[in-house]
Amino acid sequence: MWWLRVVCVSFALLATATTRAQEPVVTCRSCNSVGTFPCSKHGKDLGLEADPMVRRCSVAIECKVCGGALKVDCRQCRRPDVEAALAERQGLLREWLERQRVAVDDAVGHRTLVHLETTHCDLVCGIKPLMVGKVKFDTHQLAHLYGQRIEELRERFRTAFELTDDELPGRLRVYMFRDGKEHGVIGPRETGMGTAGSIGLKQMGPEFVYSMWQDPRSLADDEQLHRNIVHNVTHLLLSQMLPMRWIGNRSHGWLDEGIAHWFEDQVTGRCLNYCFEEVLVIPGSGWKNGKWRTPVRVMVDEGTLPSFAALSTKNTDQLTFEEHAASFAYVDFLLTTQGGAKFRDLVRAAKQGQATRDALQTIYQWNPLTIEAPFQAWVRATYPPPGR
Ligand SMILES: [Zn+2]
Ligand SMILES: [Zn+2]
Ligand SMILES: [Zn+2]
Ligand SMILES: [Zn+2]
Repeated sequence: MWWLRVVCVSFALLATATTRAQEPVVTCRSCNSVGTFPCSKHGKDLGLEADPMVRRCSVAIECKVCGGALKVDCRQCRRPDVEAALAERQGLLREWLERQRVAVDDAVGHRTLVHLETTHCDLVCGIKPLMVGKVKFDTHQLAHLYGQRIEELRERFRTAFELTDDELPGRLRVYMFRDGKEHGVIGPRETGMGTAGSIGLKQMGPEFVYSMWQDPRSLADDEQLHRNIVHNVTHLLLSQMLPMRWIGNRSHGWLDEGIAHWFEDQVTGRCLNYCFEEVLVIPGSGWKNGKWRTPVRVMVDEGTLPSFAALSTKNTDQLTFEEHAASFAYVDFLLTTQGGAKFRDLVRAAKQGQATRDALQTIYQWNPLTIEAPFQAWVRATYPPPGR
């Protein structure tokens, strides 16, 4: 009966119209009325992109299907609001990436760098595929891994010094290149440091930037690269901590390097990165192969460890290898035995222009001579002598 069919269809249309008018949400079995599906083109990397700390990733933005939104429109239903939001997001992502490409990639001559923006860091990564443990990571996966490691380091730094999030204001900007020439173009431009042939350059205020390249002579594997990033980003964090200031050239080299070594040591118990001013230098295999606790113990036992009084008035670029190790050990001692809050106050006093001697007295009731006995007792109790 044709008329019955017409009536039924009319009723159906009427019902749909009524539902639309009352409640704009369409019941779509296909997408569960969300209006979108997750983009299927990212495979196992979708987990990387979905990390809540990741804000934008160039590889995701270059996805031909979703344009970085990680979602695609459901064709079975119409959700104009969802579609408009999707298009807007894709447009913003495209504009952001084009700005990055013009600023960095075009300057080095190819558009293949990975740009990753996380909660606190802008990372540019061109590192060659690398073994991480037993798994090979491509450049894109390495960008996410290092983005995550930098965020973790910031969080460890913040909790170790008992800082609020606001006490580390501003963003970190890190460039990791596979090629010395690329770092040679971007490093000096972004840090304001002009040293040719460097492995790494830093700007420690008003912006916090580290640019480096993976020199295969000293940074061949992921572990070495990781330590390098940890050491240098720690310098950025230390300078960023309020009041913002680099203290390495204000007679507080022992704090500047000691703290960077302390976090570097946490990666795999070795310290192999040294700074000269704001430039990174990596000498050979490093002093004592980067394992410092036993050599410090030996110097304490022999009475040859540099005195705290002499150590605590030098700049970063005046420190000898023995003084780098002593700086690490003093930072280790103060943080481990006296806690993060006091240490934060010491760093803050140093940043405000106080001499270590005065801040030490106020905060710990020690002077550069009286700190020696408790420090040495602690080293004897905790740092292994040779042969163990
Ligand atoms: Zn749908
Ligand atoms: Zn990505
Ligand atoms: Zn996609
Ligand atoms: Zn350093």
